[in-house]
Amino acid sequence: MSGMTTVNQAVTLILNSVSPLPSEKVAVAESLGRVLCEDVRSGRNVPAFANSAMDGFAVRWADLAAASSAAPASLGIRGGLAAGAVSRKRVLPGTAIRIMTGAPVPAGADAIVRVEYTETRGDRVAVFRTDGLGSHIRPAGEDIRKGQLVLERGRLLGAADIGLMASIGKATVRVRRRPVVAIVATGDELIGVEDRPSRGKVVNSNDYTLSSAVREAGAVAKSFGIVRDSRTRLAATFRKALDCDALITSGGVSMGDYDYVKDALEDAGVRMRFWKVAQRPGHPMAFGSKGPRPVFGLPGNPVSSLVSFILYVRPTLLKMMGHESLFMPVVRAKLAHDIKTAPGLKEFIRCRLEEENGRFLASSTGTQSSGVLRSLSLAQALVVAREDQTMLRKGSHAPAILLDHRSRWLQREMGF
Ligand code: AMP
Ligand code: MG
Repeated sequence: MSGMTTVNQAVTLILNSVSPLPSEKVAVAESLGRVLCEDVRSGRNVPAFANSAMDGFAVRWADLAAASSAAPASLGIRGGLAAGAVSRKRVLPGTAIRIMTGAPVPAGADAIVRVEYTETRGDRVAVFRTDGLGSHIRPAGEDIRKGQLVLERGRLLGAADIGLMASIGKATVRVRRRPVVAIVATGDELIGVEDRPSRGKVVNSNDYTLSSAVREAGAVAKSFGIVRDSRTRLAATFRKALDCDALITSGGVSMGDYDYVKDALEDAGVRMRFWKVAQRPGHPMAFGSKGPRPVFGLPGNPVSSLVSFILYVRPTLLKMMGHESLFMPVVRAKLAHDIKTAPGLKEFIRCRLEEENGRFLASSTGTQSSGVLRSLSLAQALVVAREDQTMLRKGSHAPAILLDHRSRWLQREMGF
């Protein structure tokens, strides 16, 4: 494909070029945020044994059916049972066994009387009332029956799911593998975060931004450091980096004299599909693949590179990890002021969101230059302007991609 690719064409083409990775077995504790690749059935009952839901006495209900505060029943106490203890004693007619929450219900008992309905007098207990036959006994298998399907394949595993698997004694689980994502920063001007900044040098912040974004998506980031603007050096690093499941480069994809990334990717065996997208920020943005591996040539400008990550790389990684929901949440926002946009490009405008009568009100975070990372750091959303729009008018509505749906601000809006 040559010329300009639209954002929608780019998303479709990229997502169609990748498939979910194979599955792997991991320890249950390591499976948080992973997509389940097996149906999980329980090999046991949970709880495994009938147990008491209350601190009180295990009794025979028939002994107490007529008990009242005026005429309490008197039972002989045959010992006590803590959680984890097992009694070999039976509850015989006219007796009770003291029992704590979680302890197995002893043989002979068919109800638990809560301690509040009793008064212990030496080795006997007076019982004033019961809550009925079978009361406060959690039967075996009440939560989960042996053989029951508890988690279905395709599920994104959360904390409760991890605990649930532990509760049925499942130590390992089959989940979709996470992609290892190679990150290569390109540019003669780049230095490390610890290096002394001399004139003309720029800190390689993209490595930090992109590695974090990869991890936030649940994938594994592998940094290949900084590569100088040399076609042969770039190609050599790309060949190594292509052992990973995906490759992200930053910089060197525009029309400058030293923009060798596209050629070097081809030297390394990558089939390029497009290298310009009708968008702002991030107009120079290349995509290709080598076998099943997606390769993203992101622009060097810090904002362009993260916005392109959000639009294209994140959903790709999520698809590879087996997720069903690939995109960031989108809300409708009202514009607090006019915003001029470029014709022919889809624009993603960094905006703050405020609440106005229960609706979102968007205002620009300031300069929309693609080098100003702070304007993205301040943004809660990317307001989207279509290719055919040249102006978003104050008071009109536009879609807004939510960037920080966990922020305190949004939580307040939701009433927390
Ligand atoms: P390029 O796409 O290589 O023309 O770079 C565009 C702009 O982004 C230049 O101002 C670069 O200095 C800057 N830039 C490129 N790579 C990085 C990086 N890894 N970290 C921060 N800024 C970068
Ligand atoms: Mg460059």
